[in-house]
Parts: sequence; C-alpha cells; structure tokens
Amino acid sequence: MDKPAAHSAGQLSADRSSLVNESQKNTKTVLCQRCGSKVLLPGIGVLTQKELFLPSMRKKDAVLDGDAVDTSVNDGVVGDTLQDHWLVENMYAFENVGFTKNIGNIKYLVCADCEIGPIGWHCTDDTKSFYVALDRVDHV
Ligand code: ZN
Repeated sequence: MDKPAAHSAGQLSADRSSLVNESQKNTKTVLCQRCGSKVLLPGIGVLTQKELFLPSMRKKDAVLDGDAVDTSVNDGVVGDTLQDHWLVENMYAFENVGFTKNIGNIKYLVCADCEIGPIGWHCTDDTKSFYVALDRVDHV
C-alpha cells in the first residue's frame, strides 16, 4: 500500500531548489492551493527559514475559533510548525492576500478570494515582515 508522498509539512524537500533563484527569490507564481488565486508574482518573496506555528488550514472564521479544539500544541490550537517561508517586506507587493483579525500581535494571512488559511504569518510589531508558508501554497 504505497501512498503517494503528499507535500507534507515541515520538510525541506529537494524540489525546493527549483522554486528559488540565485537571490533566494521565488521563481514561480505563488497560488492559493484551494482556488488558485494569485498570491505573489515571481521575484517578490525571499526564501526564509523561521519556525512559525500556523493553525491548520480552514476557513477564516474557523481559524479564529481554532483555540476551542483539543491537543496541547501551542495553547490548544491544532496546526503545524513550519520552517520555510517566502518573506515579503511590503504588503502591497502581494497580488492578493487577506488577513485574519489580530490574535494578540499576530495576524494570519489568508487567501483573499476563498479565505482559506492561514497561508502565512505576520506580526504587527514588524510592519516589514510578511511570511507565506511554502507548504501552504502552490507554485506554478
Ligand atoms: Zn483561495
């Protein structure tokens, strides 16, 4: 029973090298995994390693309700600690992006069209750092 290797979270897979140019910027368009909405054009994000916790993907309102769920991870929110992100310094560099309401000083990035998320992470203390998790988006 061989299952195809899904793009599971947390591993720096070898094919990441095809996603970046010599400046560590994205060579491909970044899309929403669910609806295909464009998030970033090529050359906008810089591949950055940073441990960030993102709750499991779901619709925006449910993201905010996530802390009702069990498990002991990060205050009871179910999700993944992700390492690989596109760092974007300017929110106007995005093609399309939405945000959740603040959760403390954190806002999560969601798809502007279908509101699935989080696809990324932003701390309101740092207005020049928007992180888009590679595992949460498609690259074409
Ligand atoms: Zn979408």
